[in-house]
Amino acid sequence: MSSTPDLTRRQVLKVLGSGAAVLAMGGVGRSFAEGSGAGSAPPQPFVLPTLGFAYDALEPTIDARTMEIHLTKHHQAYIDAANRALAPYPNLQRFTADQLLAGLASVPEPVRLAVRNQVGGHANHCLFWQQLSPNPGREPGKDLEKAIEGAFGSLDAFKMRMTDLGMKCFGSGWVWLSAKPSGALIVHIGANEDSPLLFGVRPLLGIDVWEHAYYLKHQWQRYDYLQTVWQAIDWHAVDDRYADVLAAAQPAQS
Ligand code: MN
Repeated sequence: MSSTPDLTRRQVLKVLGSGAAVLAMGGVGRSFAEGSGAGSAPPQPFVLPTLGFAYDALEPTIDARTMEIHLTKHHQAYIDAANRALAPYPNLQRFTADQLLAGLASVPEPVRLAVRNQVGGHANHCLFWQQLSPNPGREPGKDLEKAIEGAFGSLDAFKMRMTDLGMKCFGSGWVWLSAKPSGALIVHIGANEDSPLLFGVRPLLGIDVWEHAYYLKHQWQRYDYLQTVWQAIDWHAVDDRYADVLAAAQPAQS
């Protein structure tokens, strides 16, 4: 995964702004205790998001049983494990999932792996559900379309890159379209539940290639899943995330 840079404190700052910066700088003591990473609503305990549609609404692209099990069993299991792991760390409960992931190096060692895996799983799945829709925007908006064409040649070429990486993801993981703080786009594999935020880039679009995401319908045929899942992907959600990146981008930095 040579295209994703290592996480540095500066990148966390650029990727997520001040909340993560507090976490990234603070370590366990003073800065965590200040709790300035929290918004008005408590970010934890983590809870399962509500889908804005029925389990069968994405048929035949994604079948109802897969949707239900994926959400209520797999995603719920990440949430339960994350909340359990963070229960002894009240200072960490003031941070959002994204902030914890972007500042992982400053998370206390005994709970770091649980944050990486379980909080990562929660954050990744929240993004996944958000970008699925029974009435999806079929194409990216103007800014993102231009960026995709610049980085990959065309939307079709981009989808082929995602499919290719999805096929190459050995074992469990995700294939991602992510943005550097400058707005530059990359596609990359994330092993297991590793969030792109661990690598200083911001996730825009993620395709879950764990077998639980497709096996009931496609069995061993991951390629079929990777080809058809686009039918349910709502580019409006991806556009919104890219707009956030552009709004935060500092033109002098790359
Ligand atoms: Mn999954």
